[in-house]
Amino acid sequence: MTQIQRKKTSSKADSFTESVIREMTRIALQHGAINLSQGFPDFPCPLELKQAAYAAIAEDVNQYAITWGDRPFREAIATKVRWYLGLEVDPERQITVTCGSTEAMAATMLATVDAGDEVIIFEPYYENYGPDAILANATPRYVKLHPPEWTFDELELRQAFNAHTKAIIINTPHNPLGKVFTRDELSVIADLCQQWDVLAFTDEIYEHILYDGAKHVALATLPGMDDRTVTINGLSKTYSVTGWRVGYILASPTLTGAIRKVHDFLTVGAPAPLQRAGVAAMQLPPQYYDDLARLYEQKRKLILQTLDAVGIPYFVPQGAYYVWADISHFGYPTDVDFTYHLIKEIGVAVVPGSSFFSDPQKGRSFIRFCFSKKPETLAAAQERLFKLLIADS
Ligand code: GLN
Repeated sequence: MTQIQRKKTSSKADSFTESVIREMTRIALQHGAINLSQGFPDFPCPLELKQAAYAAIAEDVNQYAITWGDRPFREAIATKVRWYLGLEVDPERQITVTCGSTEAMAATMLATVDAGDEVIIFEPYYENYGPDAILANATPRYVKLHPPEWTFDELELRQAFNAHTKAIIINTPHNPLGKVFTRDELSVIADLCQQWDVLAFTDEIYEHILYDGAKHVALATLPGMDDRTVTINGLSKTYSVTGWRVGYILASPTLTGAIRKVHDFLTVGAPAPLQRAGVAAMQLPPQYYDDLARLYEQKRKLILQTLDAVGIPYFVPQGAYYVWADISHFGYPTDVDFTYHLIKEIGVAVVPGSSFFSDPQKGRSFIRFCFSKKPETLAAAQERLFKLLIADS
């Protein structure tokens, strides 16, 4: 017998770590901490979705849906995005239903990007985009969002585009910052995409969670962008069903053709009965979205009051359900040390800022709070966070 020793794991898998966001949820559970880390609601989803899901199971909708999505769901998506985004999409040729927007982004990259292509990512960024790029053999190219307003520098963005650029990822409303990209910012991006013949992948999962009159603009609706934008979304955040894993992709017929093939071989399809419930979600009246935004306005108020009372500076989110907070004055060596202190001693779990940067050093003075929680959860977290004041004095 030869003694060949082979590395058991792939270089790709070796090149990224497990998701810090998901890890924090596990550690929170271990320590009985209130979980303000991973972004998911701790309150029920709308009754209409539950009833449609029960009915689908009762009717034995148990087998595969069409790989790229059950037709009634795709039609309902097309109607809803026409109303909300002002986007015309053909449900037969331009919509792919996926296992959450996580699969949507991965399938999109795998379907469009070749080895050596560069993908521009604004930093800080939702941690999945890094491994997505690695899995697709792409080279991520990070462009900084600068405090205090967390805008990009137009010159820096311009310099990031080059002959190797294949795509740019835009996440608006933004996780972790809560920034909502303005039409002017998106126009700059749109012009560069057209100048360099670059695709745009937009993660718009927080499109309905907006504050202080902020407006969500879909990049695909800007002139010249419909054929080069891949719009990614899902049921998770808008309808409070993050565990259902139902997402969708809107793209040109050409891009959709490639994306559907990758999606088919990755997952075959999203859960069939839950796609039936997706129809009910898409048919909720406009009032639902107003109420959702108002509900989150209340939650944002509670968490910001807490941070004010405890003396933690933050960026006021205009969208999404996170607060990006500055912990530098606590004097901990790293954001991770501070996060562990919060989880173990204070009893509140958050996400360390470094997990949103390619170079962890850049995120050392930040943490992210998630506030998609019941008022009583936020009140209990407040009570615990007050311990920081006592420890400080
Ligand atoms: N988007 C959520 C977050 O940032 C969680 C996503 C996930 O864990 N799949 O916390």
